[in-house]
Amino acid sequence: MRIDFVEALSTDNLDAIRAAPKTDVHAHAFLSTRLENVERWVGHPLTKPPPKMKGLEEMMAYADTVLAPHIKHREGFEFVAVSAMNDAVQDGVVMLEMSFDIRLAECYLDGVIGLCGFIEKLVEQYKAQAELLPELGFSRGCADDARLMNLAHEAVELGVFQSIDLYSHQEACPPEVMKPLFTKARAAGMKRKAHVGEFGGAEEVRRTVEVLDLDEVQHGIGAAESVEVMRWLSENQIQLNVCPTSNVMLDGVPDLASHPIRVLFDNGVPVTINTDDVMIFGQSVSEEYRNLYQVGVFSAQELDAIRRASLRYTTPQKCIRDYG
Ligand SMILES: [Zn+2]
Repeated sequence: MRIDFVEALSTDNLDAIRAAPKTDVHAHAFLSTRLENVERWVGHPLTKPPPKMKGLEEMMAYADTVLAPHIKHREGFEFVAVSAMNDAVQDGVVMLEMSFDIRLAECYLDGVIGLCGFIEKLVEQYKAQAELLPELGFSRGCADDARLMNLAHEAVELGVFQSIDLYSHQEACPPEVMKPLFTKARAAGMKRKAHVGEFGGAEEVRRTVEVLDLDEVQHGIGAAESVEVMRWLSENQIQLNVCPTSNVMLDGVPDLASHPIRVLFDNGVPVTINTDDVMIFGQSVSEEYRNLYQVGVFSAQELDAIRRASLRYTTPQKCIRDYG
């Protein structure tokens, strides 16, 4: 018997939560599969991430020392990306906007062409189960690297990527530096996103949206500090793609129960619920929904409304599995 999403949450039926169609529009391909899958692939256990880390520095230190030696090459990246698609399909994710960092082009002898060739095959391989919309990822720390910037421009021209995302510390480069690339992405019809407001700073969220003409913000939870910025985001329908466990583990918020996604929702800001880096944060989209319900941040009906709203850009065929 089919169980709808509201009943699935209220009876803690994880299989039924997984069965409902969902989206993941904030996921980074490089760290996108469960750690257990990497451990199985390398043939031994790996050190687990600390439950609480001091922001991006500690997370990157963990990723660089424990994870990167096993996956920072073509074979490792391709294993992770395919494994991530399997994880997503099993979790009922029917649409993914997954970002592929431009530095991944360095894993291929023919650079961006090779990377895009792999991505196109992945889209094709999974198209019956989930819609993968490839996103071009660029780290602010690479903004002064002319070679990588040129590769990113080349990637936009190839037409494989449907969105672009900017990440790492917002202090690493002001949004103005990225304007030429984002203007080009806009002209190519790509959706524009950036990580901002992950660790506070409501005004910086608004400024980055304005400078880069963003459609959506990755995290953006710092906007909850300002009623005025939330009203502005709501009026302009700027969606925040929130990753609750990531925010808690990186100490952007003290715990899940006090996550500002509630305040953002109450102020009319469109929000979605996503994974960020499953390899580190360990929670699928279904588990993120379940966690928010269990700590009382949202009712089952509110979570269902968030889930349904997130599906509005998916193709109708992909929603057939929606249970009413
Ligand atoms: Zn992210």
